[in-house]
Amino acid sequence: MNAREQLDAHGVEATPRRLAVLEGLAAFPHAPTAPELLEEVRKTVHLDKVTLYRTLDLLVEAGIVGRHPGGDGLLRYCLVHEETRPFHAHFYCTRCRRMSCLPATSTIPPRPEGLAEGMTAERVEVRFDGICNHCGDAPSSGSDSQSGSTTPARRPDTHGAPRP
Ligand SMILES: [Zn+2]
Ligand SMILES: [Zn+2]
Repeated sequence: MNAREQLDAHGVEATPRRLAVLEGLAAFPHAPTAPELLEEVRKTVHLDKVTLYRTLDLLVEAGIVGRHPGGDGLLRYCLVHEETRPFHAHFYCTRCRRMSCLPATSTIPPRPEGLAEGMTAERVEVRFDGICNHCGDAPSSGSDSQSGSTTPARRPDTHGAPRP
């Protein structure tokens, strides 16, 4: 499903900005923060910060985009794909601060015990914090130019977004 079909399916009008936000989001292999996303989206349309946040709010409300806090407290955004529906957990790397979506689990966490009568749990947030395979494998001294291709170099920041 492309961005336009996704908006149509949720009864949201497909404006150029909404399309650009969804396409920008799809360009990331991880779940970006709003500033990261803004930088990406600005490659195609002019968008200010306030409009981005408004657009994201609308897409989250519509159930097209998920909004999840990382281990640093900053919110990350990700597409709610068919494959990650209705529930998926996240992995947050405490070194590079990247948060990635994990594949959907077939089991939704059970209703929590000890809920008082009248309390209803509607959603659950699961995040694993740790060291990602990229940071874990990173050699501290150079000289691995000959290393194999076990870690796919799917880094979105080859164009712009310099990172220490
Ligand atoms: Zn990492
Ligand atoms: Zn996600």
